[in-house]
Amino acid sequence: MGMKYHQKQAFVIGQNIAHSKSPLIHNYWLQKYNIQGRYDIRDFDESELPNFVKEVRTDENITGFNITIPYKQAIIPFLDEIEDTAQTIGAVNTVYKKSNKLIGTNTDAYGFMQNLKDHVKSNDFNALKTQPVLLYGAGGAAKAVLYGLVKDGFTHIDICNRTLSKTKNLAQRHKNKASIRVIDGLVKNVENHYVTFINTTSLGMAGHQDLEISFADAASLRLVVDIVYKPLYTDILRKAQKADIQIVTGIGMLLHQARPAFAKFFGHIPDIDKKLRELVLE
Ligand code: NAP
Repeated sequence: MGMKYHQKQAFVIGQNIAHSKSPLIHNYWLQKYNIQGRYDIRDFDESELPNFVKEVRTDENITGFNITIPYKQAIIPFLDEIEDTAQTIGAVNTVYKKSNKLIGTNTDAYGFMQNLKDHVKSNDFNALKTQPVLLYGAGGAAKAVLYGLVKDGFTHIDICNRTLSKTKNLAQRHKNKASIRVIDGLVKNVENHYVTFINTTSLGMAGHQDLEISFADAASLRLVVDIVYKPLYTDILRKAQKADIQIVTGIGMLLHQARPAFAKFFGHIPDIDKKLRELVLE
């Protein structure tokens, strides 16, 4: 009888995700911290979701998985518990095991806020909280971003999106905790009133349409954040830089959201180092 080989195994699941950066990030950390483990892509159709979950439940080497487009909501009925964060956001991006239960959580809001805090001095960060934010987009990522902003005490957030129903839906979830205003349609000209602008749409991403917006009237703007990280310096970030407005790129969110997931899967809180940043941007 041979010895059974135990190696912790985690995955990222989704559809058409061959280009996912998650295996690169997690496998980098496994190597860096000398942890016996693997992190792989599982790319499948929705009909295979039940079988995948069954496999996770029966294979004790599997410690958890990340979820990306299009299963962040579809996974929910298969889980035993959903943490409050994921419940409020309405999407699960990380599933881990706890005493044979599958627990769903969401680390995207953490990733977004942590990246913001990496770039903005704490005094400035506190000042930003009470000043108007324009949130561009109301898709999956916007849900996590808005949750993070409200949780960390941002008080005035206006949301605009192509599809108004999604904007209304998103605003509804947080209306008791902050002043959230719904704008009909996408803003083209940022008003001289907003201090922070955050893009959460896929506009400006390589292969997608441009994000057409002007900051020219908004002398009030102090910070422009894009969660798109391909390209790293999107058109709006370049535009902001030219206007001497501080910018925050999207790569830090991607790296930070992976940290708590890695800790759940492999038992060690990892750090983001220069080499990892370079690898992910290659
Ligand atoms: P999603 O749920 O599909 O939402 C897409 C968003 O973009 C919606 O607000 C959508 O508006 C808008 N949009 C798409 N095409 C548009 C168009 N032609 N005109 C106007 N609006 C358009 O996707 P998601 O998961 O939120 O991801 C959005 C982007 O964020 C992606 O580029 C993704 O790579 C990036 N992201 C980055 C990180 C990170 O860690 N840095 C994490 C998550 C996501 P409608 O509601 O009108 O369709």
